[in-house]
Amino acid sequence: MRAIQTKDNSKDLVLSTELPAFLIADLVNCPTLPTLPSVAINILKIARTEHPSVNEYANAIERDPALTIRIITLANSAFFSRSHIKVHSCQEATARLGLDTTLAAVMSFSLLQSRGVDVHYQRVWMRSIIASLAARYLATRLCPDMTGPVFTAALLQDIGIMALRATYPKESNNLYLETALSHRQLSESEQRLFGCDHSQVGAWLAAKWGVPTPLAQRIGDSHGEYDITTPDKMCVQLSGPIADAWLSPHPAQALMAVVREFETYQGAHAISLRHLLESIQERLPALADMLQMTAPPLQNNESLLAEAQQLLFQQTLQLRARLDTHQAELTSLRQRQDELEERSRTDMLTGLANRSWLEEQMHKRFVLCQEQSRTMSVVFIDLDHFKKLNDQYGHQMGDNVLQKFGKTLQLLIREGDLAGRWGGEEFLIVLPEEDAQAAKVFAKRIAEHLEITPMAHDDQDPIHVSVSIGIACLADGGFGSADELVDAADKSMYFIKHTGRGGIAVYGDRGASVTPMND
Ligand code: GH3
Ligand code: MG
Ligand code: MG
Repeated sequence: MRAIQTKDNSKDLVLSTELPAFLIADLVNCPTLPTLPSVAINILKIARTEHPSVNEYANAIERDPALTIRIITLANSAFFSRSHIKVHSCQEATARLGLDTTLAAVMSFSLLQSRGVDVHYQRVWMRSIIASLAARYLATRLCPDMTGPVFTAALLQDIGIMALRATYPKESNNLYLETALSHRQLSESEQRLFGCDHSQVGAWLAAKWGVPTPLAQRIGDSHGEYDITTPDKMCVQLSGPIADAWLSPHPAQALMAVVREFETYQGAHAISLRHLLESIQERLPALADMLQMTAPPLQNNESLLAEAQQLLFQQTLQLRARLDTHQAELTSLRQRQDELEERSRTDMLTGLANRSWLEEQMHKRFVLCQEQSRTMSVVFIDLDHFKKLNDQYGHQMGDNVLQKFGKTLQLLIREGDLAGRWGGEEFLIVLPEEDAQAAKVFAKRIAEHLEITPMAHDDQDPIHVSVSIGIACLADGGFGSADELVDAADKSMYFIKHTGRGGIAVYGDRGASVTPMND
């Protein structure tokens, strides 16, 4: 790939666009590459000078009487003037049109005049003419001081097609006469065939002719990604799809796509599609006439817009429906994930928190208590002689007892407490903000509840269980971690086991605090 770099007598023009080397060689060697007549070349020379003037333009144009008449006619058309004051001289006409638009008109007229206008050129130029009107309208709203340059670039945006057709007549015949191709598809086919598309070739050709560099650059950017920070480029870029929509056999559908394009642009609220279409409608005949083209039959903007809006509405509804489906899928996925998470935290037999969740929570709460100088107590419970119970009544009965005990704990804890199964027939309850005394009151309630409430029945016979309970309170010892606190509660519980089971012991309060179940 080589950067476009062409030399003329006055300046080096360097564009950032790149063309494959073979393509540049073929273009340069093409004997029928479009050229500009001397009047256009002279105007381009003037355009490249520091301060081009209306007088200089007019003097150059006046050398070509046919061109002079066209420029005056264009300046007097509804396109440029709502006033009834007619201009009569080339100078007045150039002043009214502005230098950029005059340049565009001269170049387009020259190009169309020098080529036999076949059906394909007719189509390409009509697109460019409509695009130039669309671009001009957009520029008046989005970048008013760039109206002229934007109009010019939009009108010349497809000149690359002329160069490619001249250089590769055989490939072009298949490619450009394929009417079913959209502009985007056309550009993709060019990419495949030539390694770049006609926007880049157009920029190269424009640079070779010596058009001002920003103009060549805008031609090169005409297919680029929209960039809201460069509205002048964007006006040219949007103009193509609008022209395509205008010329499409299904204009409503195509316009809807344009509306969507508009919506992606923040400044789009400043643009009324209706006014845009009206503006094209109003100015198209004069411009087409100036370029000796037959304008397509006028569109019925009202019904077109209505149809486009209807389609847009339908599409929005479909999108909404699709969105709803996605939303529902998302919700059910989230539910499923919540369920899975819940399950990963839960002990399946008792429905209480499982060991890993207990440990995680203990760790978090321990850190929190340390940071905020708060306290908590843990209550470690081990069912007494559970092995015997299993042996006597069977494992299933053992399970039933564990389940029932789980429910009992759930019933007795308060909101904010956390009860879990530490393993086997061991349970742990975390009591935030509670001191050892409060934890002991709670433990007593459990013990008392177990005394009066059987955890299962063998036939009609109630099965009661007793528990050994150890308590440790964070405030009562120099605990370095959550594990140490649990260990302390566990040790206290074992103290009860060793002193006969069925009681409560508080860590650090050994002996005095042992509370037998029937205390
Ligand atoms: P101690 O009073 O000293 O605590 O005696 P123990 O029999 O309760 O304690 P030990 O640790 O000797 O035995 C615990 C028994 O709990 C042994 C094991 O089979 C039973 N076990 C553990 N998990 C389950 C379970 O999920 N279901 C049933 N049914 N039994 C279990
Ligand atoms: Mg036990
Ligand atoms: Mg045990």
